[in-house]
Amino acid sequence: MIEQQIKTAIRDIHDFPKPGIIFKDITPILKDPGLCTRINDAFLEKIKDMQIDAVAGVESRGFLFGLSLATKLGVPFIPVRKAGKLPHTVNQKVYELEYGTATIEIHTDAFKPGDRILIHDDLLATGGTVTATSELIQDMGGIVAGFSFVVGLSFLNGIEKIAPISNNIIVLAD
Ligand code: IMP
Repeated sequence: MIEQQIKTAIRDIHDFPKPGIIFKDITPILKDPGLCTRINDAFLEKIKDMQIDAVAGVESRGFLFGLSLATKLGVPFIPVRKAGKLPHTVNQKVYELEYGTATIEIHTDAFKPGDRILIHDDLLATGGTVTATSELIQDMGGIVAGFSFVVGLSFLNGIEKIAPISNNIIVLAD
């Protein structure tokens, strides 16, 4: 039911951000507060037994539900940001893109070693971004307790890529 509601709300934008790409635009979900509440509730129901110490949200759309999940769980939110955006001292990870590299950063004091962290993003495509996030969190002594996504593009096999990191993978709409 929630899956169908999400699928109905998101829209395909052709040739964004580059020619040939079909971009899944989740912003219509944000216009529907009832749907946002149901998405939060669906995540919380699936997460409740995972013993999460913090939620890490990936810039930028991972901040949207990531912060509300952390707040509802009563745990800290960790912003995972692109290079140069976080003001305090950071740890960083460079990872490969189709063309070139990207860098993500987390504040050095964002969590404690041994904390169990849920990594959240709006959409799972190839899994490259959350794999890099997992590696950075593990480098800092954290434990990846699981992943949560509003949408997954199953034809890109992101789940297969991240399953060795944690089997707790929540995808509300595939
Ligand atoms: P991945 O690293 O290939 O899994 O790509 C996932 C990242 O790219 C996430 O941070 C998404 O927000 C973003 N992304 C990739 N494709 C789309 C899309 O079609 N719609 C929205 N975000 C996307």
